[in-house]
Parts: sequence; C-alpha cells; structure tokens
Amino acid sequence: MTADVVIIGGGFAGLAAAASLARNGAKVLLVEKKKFLGGRVYSIRDRRTGDWIDNGQHALMGCYHQTFDLLKEWGTEDGVLLQPQIDIPYRGAGGQRDRLRGRSLPGPLHLLGGLLSMRSFSWRDKWAAMRFGMQMKRKNAVKPGETVQQLCDRLGQPALLQRRMWGAIALSALNEEVAQADASLLQTVLQQAFFSSAADSRMGLPIVSLQKLHDEAAVDYLTQRQGKVLLGRRADRLEWKGDQISAVILSSGERIPCGACISAAPAPALAKIMQASQLEDRVPVPDLGASPIVSVYLWYERSFSDEAFCCLEDCAFDWLFHRSNFMAPNEHKTHCVCLLASAARRLQHLSRDALIQTAIEEVEKTHPEHPRLKPASASVFWEPHATFSTTPDQVKKRPGAQTELNRFFLAGDWIDVGLPATIEGAVISGNKAAAMAAAMATKK
Ligand SMILES: Cc1cc2nc3c(=O)[nH]c(=O)nc-3n(C[C@H](O)[C@H](O)[C@H](O)COP(=O)(O)OP(=O)(O)OC[C@H]3O[C@@H](n4cnc5c(N)ncnc54)[C@H](O)[C@@H]3O)c2cc1C
Repeated sequence: MTADVVIIGGGFAGLAAAASLARNGAKVLLVEKKKFLGGRVYSIRDRRTGDWIDNGQHALMGCYHQTFDLLKEWGTEDGVLLQPQIDIPYRGAGGQRDRLRGRSLPGPLHLLGGLLSMRSFSWRDKWAAMRFGMQMKRKNAVKPGETVQQLCDRLGQPALLQRRMWGAIALSALNEEVAQADASLLQTVLQQAFFSSAADSRMGLPIVSLQKLHDEAAVDYLTQRQGKVLLGRRADRLEWKGDQISAVILSSGERIPCGACISAAPAPALAKIMQASQLEDRVPVPDLGASPIVSVYLWYERSFSDEAFCCLEDCAFDWLFHRSNFMAPNEHKTHCVCLLASAARRLQHLSRDALIQTAIEEVEKTHPEHPRLKPASASVFWEPHATFSTTPDQVKKRPGAQTELNRFFLAGDWIDVGLPATIEGAVISGNKAAAMAAAMATKK
C-alpha cells in the first residue's frame, strides 16, 4: 500500500484535509485508530433507551464557512439546521426569562436591537456592552497575555455583563472560565461570530446524530476519489531519511510509503508518535492542558417546552437543549433533553447520581411553570479532554501547520489558526495543512 499523502486521525481536521487533497487528485490514505470516524464529534447508542446520543451536544454557527463547505461536499449539510436569525432564550435558576433575538439589520446592528430589548440588563449595562463591542473592533484592543476577566475589568465592564454575556461566550466558545480564558481568542469569536453579518451569528444545531454528519458520507467521498480509509489502525511512528518523511508505520507493523504526511491527531497522541520516531526534538509537541465538558441526558415522558434550547443563568450547567424539539423525527422516542457544562472542572467531584440530580433540579428550577418534572431515564457523558485549555499561556504555545521535517504537516483544533478549539478551527487547520501537503507530495 502506498499513498501520496497519509493522514493520521479521522476527526474533522483529518477529514477536511483528506477531502481537500482527494478533491485535487491526490491519492490519500486516512488512518484512524478508533473503529469509527469523527474524533470528538461522535454518537453512541444509549443502553437504556436505545436512542442515539452524542458525546456532547454540539452547536455550529453561521460563521463556520469551511465546515459548511465540507458538509456540502459530503452531502450532509441538511443535517444542520441554522436559525433564520440569532435567537437565544435565557432561563435563570429563579425562573426568570430573557431573550437575545437578532433583528433583520446589517451586522452588527442586528445584535444591537436584540441587546436593547433584553430585560436582564440595565441601561448602564447595555451602554457598557455597546462600548465594549466598539472597542473589540479595534486591532490592539487586547493586551498580550490578557484573560477575558482582566480585559473586562480594564474596560470597565459591569460584573453582571462579565458573568452573563462575555463570561458565557468565553465558556461556550473557548471552553474556559472567564478568569482563565484568553482574551484575544474571545475578540476573534466576537468579531467573526457576533459583530460581522447577521447570517454569521446564527446558531446551527445538528438535527441528526453527529455520526450521520460525516461517517459513511465522508468515506464514500474519499473512496470515490481513489482515497482509502483504514479504521481501527494506529499510526505508531514515522520513518524519515535526512530531512524528509518517507513512510508511516502502523501498530500492525504495516509500512506505508508516502510523499507527504499530515498529523491530525491531538497533541498528546502526536507527542507519542514523535517520541517513537525519535523526532521529539525536531517536532516538539507542547502540553496544552485539557478542559472537560460534561453532558447529562434526561428522558421525560412528555414534552414541557417548545424551545429548541436555552442558555442557563446562575446554574451549574450552561445550556439546556430540548433535543426532541429539533432533531429529525424518530431520532428520540420521548422528550430528550441534554444539559451541558463547559470547562466543567467545577463538577468533577460529583458522582454520576449527583450530576443527574443536579441536572434534574436545574430543569425544575428553570421551568417553574412545570412543577415536579421527573425523567424516566438519564445518562451522563464526560469528555475529560474535550478541548485544550485556552488560557493565554497555553494559547501562545500553539504551533503552526509547518514543521521542521520536510513533507510533514500538522492539523487539529490545537494548531494555531487563530480560532478556539472548535469544529471550524479543526476544518480550517485541515484545509491549510492539505494545501501545504499538496504542493509537496507530488514533487520528487
Ligand atoms: C463534548 C464536546 C462538545 C463540543 N462542542 C462543540 C461545539 O458545540 N462546537 C464546536 O465547534 N466544537 C465543539 N467541540 C470541539 C470539537 O469537537 C473539536 O474541536 C473538534 O472535533 C476537534 O477535531 P480534531 O480533528 O482536531 O480532533 P479529534 O476530533 O480529536 O480527532 C483526532 C483523531 O485522531 C485519532 N488518533 C489519535 N491518535 C492516533 C494515531 N496514533 N493513529 C491514528 N489515529 C489517531 C483519534 O482517535 C481521533 O479520531 C466540542 C467537543 C466536545 C468533546
């Protein structure tokens, strides 16, 4: 077996790189150590209910341009439903409700109207939020090494706004607490997702289980373009001569000669490969830490809301998704909700039962119009390494796609493409590494 380009890892970064190269005529071999594709975007069947649940509810945004292009190529773009306008309902632990609803105006005015009509914030808060928005448009608004909290304090953002607006965005988009999250990444998210166009601000939810967004469609796309996918095979080490990569060696002992290689494996996995290849000095892999996400799925006998989701305020969980209200028919048998907590270290001491109990109580407290809501079944999903830890110290250690080794490139959500660890960041990094590999793979 030979390939123009071997890609290590079948998450969105590896899949994007593979699709991009195959589209341009390269013979691609994608090696994935698990028996399924998707990396951190996958689904499993729940043992008790038989429903398909995701490893955590994922949300996309209108600004995920390269991700939507990829889904279009696979033919699975209908699996994500984008809102007509950004529309985020809020529910608090005391039963209070609010809503951020965009207007049909050019960005960022679409958000201004929505912000002005929110009840949770005083006029002073709203004025401060607008000022912050204007300041975030400036290139040098963030000081190097600043956290979101330091930035907010310096720019005089009231505590309520820090917690409910900027902190909530940092938690969801950066998967880190406001006191730790890198402010420059928040600025990028605000610029790309909130202050650009109304279309880019829309939230999109997968209406099919995550696995159906890629999986068979991604494999078909590659095999129709002379590509090959090896599942359940781990890349162990690289073979190299002088400055150049010559082959990838799998755990089965197979040797795959290649013109170029892209690693789309997470940092800890790549560090092992580099060590086994005696390349750790030439391709150093930083330890970027990890931030967990926990999801609790609850199944109720009957529906109790017509919302698709809501942002939770002053709760242990950050979001509540009514999956049965937006998933395609038959995806869930009863009313399935998913509560999700980002940067969930604060919940790590809780047992499975305690987590479920907390989730049940938060559903009750935020929906007081439906007292005594009791689920018939529950499931907990921990992802301890959901993303790298986006603190300023870690963010500055992120490497680029290019390595010192000829014809060896890096991709993954931890590679520096200027975005937080997201699907879009992974796809952009994959496309970038593919463009570099394409230029090299066919050169003798
Ligand atoms: C619970 C949860 C919720 C999230 N929510 C969102 C969200 O709402 N929106 C969003 O945009 N992002 C979200 N993310 C982040 C997003 O899922 C990731 O940023 C993205 O999927 C990372 O893709 P990747 O390809 O870089 O890495 P991965 O998906 O980790 O893929 C790497 C692949 O490499 C494979 N691999 C590792 N070592 C080897 C080896 N030696 N040989 C072969 N294969 C190997 C792994 O098995 C894996 O499949 C969430 C993540 C989690 C966990």
